[in-house]
Amino acid sequence: MKKIEAAALFMKENSELFQCPVCEAVFSKTDGNSLSCVNGHLFDISKKGTLYFLLKGTKNEYDKEMLSSRFNIATAGLFHPLLDDLYPSIAEKENGHTLDVGCGEGSQLDYLTELGLKGQKIGFDISKDAIQLAAAHFSSAFWCVADLAQSPFATQQYDTILNIFSPSNYKEFNRLLKKGGQVIKVVPEKEYLIELRQLFYRDQEEKQTYSNEVVIAKFKEHFPLMKIEKIKYSFDLTPSLFADLMKMTPLSWGASPEAKEYAIEHPLKKITIDVCVLIGQKQGAL
Ligand SMILES: [Zn+2]
Repeated sequence: MKKIEAAALFMKENSELFQCPVCEAVFSKTDGNSLSCVNGHLFDISKKGTLYFLLKGTKNEYDKEMLSSRFNIATAGLFHPLLDDLYPSIAEKENGHTLDVGCGEGSQLDYLTELGLKGQKIGFDISKDAIQLAAAHFSSAFWCVADLAQSPFATQQYDTILNIFSPSNYKEFNRLLKKGGQVIKVVPEKEYLIELRQLFYRDQEEKQTYSNEVVIAKFKEHFPLMKIEKIKYSFDLTPSLFADLMKMTPLSWGASPEAKEYAIEHPLKKITIDVCVLIGQKQGAL
């Protein structure tokens, strides 16, 4: 089956997971490769099998080079120990539906599928380039370009919301989750990519560490029923993975040209992944 046909079939069979981002009505009709809501708002499935739900164009800072670098290093396993650790919590919701918020180039949802994740899997990102990359490589999930400020996702349909290194919209997460559903949010800890920070910001000690206290406090406010896990490990780098690492992270935006040159001359052999995993349960009726 062609990607576009598979996507049309997915939308037809899973229309309850979505809503029209213009008027919030259900998508009542799938006609060939387009779907429409009861009020006639029309969305076309692309040849690559993706859907574009944004109502107006948005700018984002992640260019194609960054995304493909992230794809390279992520598929080489940079986040695999982290995802191995998360997997049992997600798999606990048997055949539950998973929404990956800010899925980027799709590698994390694909790896979780490889581990055995069942249920419907939807990954979305505000970056069209990221979704094209995801759709080109992975058929393990349904990929779409979307923004939670104009949400194309329906109320109380999701068992797990994954929110890995990406911004949150807790009000919207609460609306999307089924009763008893969960948000799994991953945020950097103090020593996340510490070797790279030290390379890029040798003279600026304040930029070498990162505090996530505010983020955690905010999460707790919205999901008081929560637990925190810390995960820390070291990942071996080849010269080409080091080059990808330098390109994939926004850390490089703040680094001076001299610092980047210094980094190229002093390639890292290892990088530390140090993160905090916040798992919050939805409680109450809505
Ligand atoms: Zn509509």
